Amino acid sequence: MKLPPIEARLAGNRFVLDEEESHIEIDQELARSTGTAERIIACCPAGVYSRRPDGEVAVEYAACLECGTCLAVSSPGALRWRYPRGGFGVQYREG
Ligand code: SF4
Repeated sequence: MKLPPIEARLAGNRFVLDEEESHIEIDQELARSTGTAERIIACCPAGVYSRRPDGEVAVEYAACLECGTCLAVSSPGALRWRYPRGGFGVQYREG
């Protein structure tokens, strides 16, 4: 069976945004000094992280797929990541 392209499969997901609370926080200084910033920008499959003009890392937490990859590559203390509060976050529609 041939699966649809990954973009089409991801587009079927539903995201419930928690507008009051981000489930991702960055210690900008630690992220910069440990190289965490470059790693999380490079590895996030959802493009949650990007470099702002001022050099800090922007976080578009609403798009998070909750895969945990950024947590695996970050240095201790540079990233505070937890699952979104109950009822919020990604709801997978396929696989
Ligand atoms: S958990 Fe996955 S999708 Fe979410 S910010 Fe980290 S790498 Fe990106």
